[in-house]
Amino acid sequence: MHEARAVSAAVEHALADVPAPEAVSTLRLEVHDPTRASAEAVRFYAAAILRERGLESVEVHVETLAMTCELCGAAALPTVTNPLCDACGAPMRRLPGPAVEGHAESELR
Ligand SMILES: [Zn+2]
Repeated sequence: MHEARAVSAAVEHALADVPAPEAVSTLRLEVHDPTRASAEAVRFYAAAILRERGLESVEVHVETLAMTCELCGAAALPTVTNPLCDACGAPMRRLPGPAVEGHAESELR
């Protein structure tokens, strides 16, 4: 449920940044905090939101950014179900700010 809200906010934000949402060809979503949102869920909710707005032709790209472990400094890719450092097993600290950020790209034809 949190993921749905995070994705919805990211998509709204991205679409509000462009002059014409109907000209958007690509929506890039970055998962900044993989302990709070999985790429799979982000893709699912983004597709549903775009469909609701009649923008189902928009291509969705989801990228998950690595987090830096505070304990060992490793770049870790924790998940919602396993929010631990890959290298040392320390719990990852929740990042401030939105878990997902979006950016819309228009293709000029
Ligand atoms: Zn670590």
